[in-house]
Amino acid sequence: QRQPLVIANWKMNGNRALVAELSEALQQQQAHYADVTVVVCPPAVLLPVWQAQPGVVALGAQDVNEHADGAHTGEHSLALVHEAGAQWVLIGHSERRQCYGDSETRIAQKLGQVLADSRFTAVLCVGESAEQREQGATFAVVEAQLSEALAQVSACERLVVAYEPVWAIGTGLTASPAQAQEVHGFIRHWLQEKFGSAGAAVQLLYGGSVKAGNASELFAEADIDGGLIGGASLQPEQFVAICTAA
Ligand code: 13P
Repeated sequence: QRQPLVIANWKMNGNRALVAELSEALQQQQAHYADVTVVVCPPAVLLPVWQAQPGVVALGAQDVNEHADGAHTGEHSLALVHEAGAQWVLIGHSERRQCYGDSETRIAQKLGQVLADSRFTAVLCVGESAEQREQGATFAVVEAQLSEALAQVSACERLVVAYEPVWAIGTGLTASPAQAQEVHGFIRHWLQEKFGSAGAAVQLLYGGSVKAGNASELFAEADIDGGLIGGASLQPEQFVAICTAA
């Protein structure tokens, strides 16, 4: 049985005040989502601020450099984000793929590094663009992203996969529960082919315009174990309601 999981991805948003606000809202309502793992991925400089809050959430980094240290101005290593409190890392978010040079090769390096460190769980993000969906290439795109990222990976115990159709991110266009389940089912099947029965235990998250109003119907699908939440994670009431729906 897979545990429900909800991850907030603040992207380049939020501030100290919002840390306090969301942390308090989550603490107050914790009884309503007691069986749900909640992870918050703030901008890296806010990790220590979250770390200082009374702990009801786990913390994650939005990205990590593939190198252990060295001359990489502006980047963060896995060891650094661990010191700042992160135990989860998002890898291969579509914004990083599109705007910040995360090639398939680099994503595979980052993922390998995170999975090799037993203190961390990696959240691999995959998903097709609108154009790719229109061309009927959704499964092919997702399969290529999975197989390239996981080519050198032989165990999936600390792996989560997030399906985030690019056309649904920040657009208000949510995939329908059936559309999302279709791809989640495909990912589940692929993971089972590669990892055997361990693949059945990998938590699969849906991301893309999840709100309090559509979370329950999405999370009710057989292979949707929770969500990766962008915009709505900046609104404490919305985010708490999404956690409660999981
Ligand atoms: P939105 O929830 O704002 O659509 O963002 C989804 C996302 O990209 C989370 O990583």
